[in-house]
Amino acid sequence: MPIVLYDTRQRRKVPFEPLEAGTVKMYTCGQTVYDDAHIGNFRTYIFEDLLRRSLKFLGYQVVQVMNLTDVDDKTIRESCRQGIPLKEYTAPIIERFFEDLDTLGIERAEHYPAATDHVPEMIALIQTLLEKGYAYQAEGSVYFSVSRFKDYGQLSGMSLERLAKGVRIDADEYEKDDFRDFALWKGRTPEDGEVSWEAPFGRGRPGWHIECSAMSMRYLGEEFDIHTGGVDNIFPHHENEIAQSVAATGKGFARYWLHSAHLVVDGEKMSKSLGNFYTVKDLLAKGYPPRAIRYVLLSVHYRQPLNFTDEVAQAAMRSLERFDTLYQAAVLASGGGKVRNTLREALDNTRQGFASSLQDDLGIAEAMADLFKLVSTVHQLAQEKPLNRAEGVALKALWGDVDRVLGLLIPEETGISGQILDAVRNRERLRRSHDFAQADRIRVELNQRGIQLEDTTEGTVAIWPGGRRIVRIEDDNS
Ligand code: AMP
Ligand code: ZN
Repeated sequence: MPIVLYDTRQRRKVPFEPLEAGTVKMYTCGQTVYDDAHIGNFRTYIFEDLLRRSLKFLGYQVVQVMNLTDVDDKTIRESCRQGIPLKEYTAPIIERFFEDLDTLGIERAEHYPAATDHVPEMIALIQTLLEKGYAYQAEGSVYFSVSRFKDYGQLSGMSLERLAKGVRIDADEYEKDDFRDFALWKGRTPEDGEVSWEAPFGRGRPGWHIECSAMSMRYLGEEFDIHTGGVDNIFPHHENEIAQSVAATGKGFARYWLHSAHLVVDGEKMSKSLGNFYTVKDLLAKGYPPRAIRYVLLSVHYRQPLNFTDEVAQAAMRSLERFDTLYQAAVLASGGGKVRNTLREALDNTRQGFASSLQDDLGIAEAMADLFKLVSTVHQLAQEKPLNRAEGVALKALWGDVDRVLGLLIPEETGISGQILDAVRNRERLRRSHDFAQADRIRVELNQRGIQLEDTTEGTVAIWPGGRRIVRIEDDNS
């Protein structure tokens, strides 16, 4: 069964086929690093993470590029206001951005190009557009002539008739109704401070849209598979990216356009300008574990608006607890015996159901429902007869597999470090050599650190406030 994705341009679900068999090249518009990202931004990055992980799970190699917009109206305004050179101003914001990506378990893209490192490519692209007559110079800036590009508006559904001829727009972002020529290169102004580059068409700096065209083509080629962003990127940003890129190269640019709906608060888009935002660190400070935040951002289908509330976060924690019952049962399963047929069947069905849900435009709700169904089945089977070790191993294997996509099923093992695991193993060795006095000393020390030990035929079970785990000498990775 092919993967089916909703393409914004065609306004329907379409079968997905990459240009090059087996490899998907995708460009994801990244953070404008004038301030810390909010969880609305992360809603989009988690959707892109789900897309990336799902494609890999379904057998593709993925080359993902996420740009860092480190020069635009906002970054310049803020760095000037604070009197810090642009690169110095953005560096700590970028560092915190990567910390947040790690907190949320977002897999790293293959490339994170910063706009300021690719200005020569942008200049070359603008030069081509000037040569081909799609761009013109005015008052030290260069503008894209929207009326010259006949296909303008196909992505967003804007019509060329609504174009007000000859009216130019300088701001990187503008209202939907401002349907005008946009700046490719902005001639230097006093507000830009030190931020400018030399170009054949005068000193200045790139506009926001040309940055993404230049960086995507630099890393992925003139035509590539998927381009994504939040719905606010459709117009004007992505519309302008298409116009510039197709006009310059004559090639099709991105073949599939995917956009995630917004994270909203009381019906309004979460954004810096409305002041209704939380950062990841705000939520951690409120006591939400990282995987609960990831769960909330992941579990609503990407084309549906997501309303972030405390109730939703609480519900996410309860769902994770249900998932954890299965994992704990698998970890604690012990004793001999084969995998029961009913369980084997349930595992196969879950694996298949999970994959086909993702294949249908990343049907995350259905994929999760498949897992909850398995949780119930396993609970029932365990009531009939406790899970044996082989069943635990089979369950853990499936859980690990689907977690390559979800990135939240394996509980965080807070409170148990490698050092503690070593101590538990050491104690077991001492017990085996009948040195009970020393073994007991270790047990008491661990007790004082909040870790209880239970000796079972399967090994020692370490129990701490955040969870429990079997520790075996023979199995250093268990
Ligand atoms: P920006 O830094 O504003 O360029 O945004 C970075 C990414 O976050 C873009 O893909 C935006 O579409 C996306 N984004 C911004 N606000 C939200 C929101 N409230 N919900 C979902 N995505 C958002
Ligand atoms: Zn972009």
